[in-house]
Amino acid sequence: MPRDTFGAGYPFLPASARLSFDQMETLARAFASLGVDKIRITGGEPLLRRGVEHLIERLARIPTWDGRPMEIALTTNGVLLKDKARALRDAGLTRVTVSLDALDDAVFRRMTDTDTPVARVLEGIAAASATGLSPVKVNTVIERGVNDSQIVPLVRYFKGTGVALRFIEYMDVGGAEGWDMSRVMTAEEVRDTVASMYRLVATDTVRPGSTSVNYRHEDDGSEVVSEVGFIASVSQPFCGDCTRARVSSDGQLYTCLFATQGMDLRPWLSDGASPARLAEAVRTRWQSRGDNYSERRGQRGAHGDRRQYPTIRMSLVGG
Ligand code: SF4
Repeated sequence: MPRDTFGAGYPFLPASARLSFDQMETLARAFASLGVDKIRITGGEPLLRRGVEHLIERLARIPTWDGRPMEIALTTNGVLLKDKARALRDAGLTRVTVSLDALDDAVFRRMTDTDTPVARVLEGIAAASATGLSPVKVNTVIERGVNDSQIVPLVRYFKGTGVALRFIEYMDVGGAEGWDMSRVMTAEEVRDTVASMYRLVATDTVRPGSTSVNYRHEDDGSEVVSEVGFIASVSQPFCGDCTRARVSSDGQLYTCLFATQGMDLRPWLSDGASPARLAEAVRTRWQSRGDNYSERRGQRGAHGDRRQYPTIRMSLVGG
């Protein structure tokens, strides 16, 4: 989150405007009744929310439509993960994804606009692995000319650790100042860069709804597989398979990462409101969605339109 935007004078959301854990659980139950079987807690930075492990505990108890346990995932910048990993696991977190765009301290600090050393994030990743959270993933967004030098070092670092590395194309989501197609290093280019140093073989671990094409190292043993995946969110958009609904901390439902407007769910979350009506409102909104921003970006680009269109900030709804 850039310091020049989110400085001391920024009018942050007051705590009273954020959904309570009770409201989040109500929401999660409504989504579960509609067939959702995986909930990801994102941010901003979710580990800054006091008592997030208590929320996880409550969400993890919600049964899915077929009686399986709800899968709870979390995406974090990793800064607080070392101290929280065990409590998160004990609360019922099943998987964790850490955003990490560089191993080199100077590149990392420039990109994150913080003084946090990379070592602190790496310690968090190691702690998450040691507690048995599985899978532990690292998401890396590659911006040409900014951190493409980090591709091979990241692969080298995580090879043999069991941590899954995912390279994601740089997107024009809100907050990506001055985004331009020339700054996008495609998944194919990133994969070629990795393949010039390491022998990769395709895996067959693609889950339904997965956006990543995954490989493992040819010389991985059978016990420690360190996947390397590539997500072509710009060059090969997957809007047709997109199944992700996002709810911001103030209760707005967004049906696309590139939305400009959400639907306010708070009227269905007030005391005495009907859970069935909440589920119905979500169902109706979801069924009427026609989101395909990434596909349209490609079509616009083909016609020479390379403008960046306004969208919600990524820090509002996670990735
Ligand atoms: S652009 Fe929107 S609809 Fe397309 S994949 Fe991304 S979030 Fe889904």
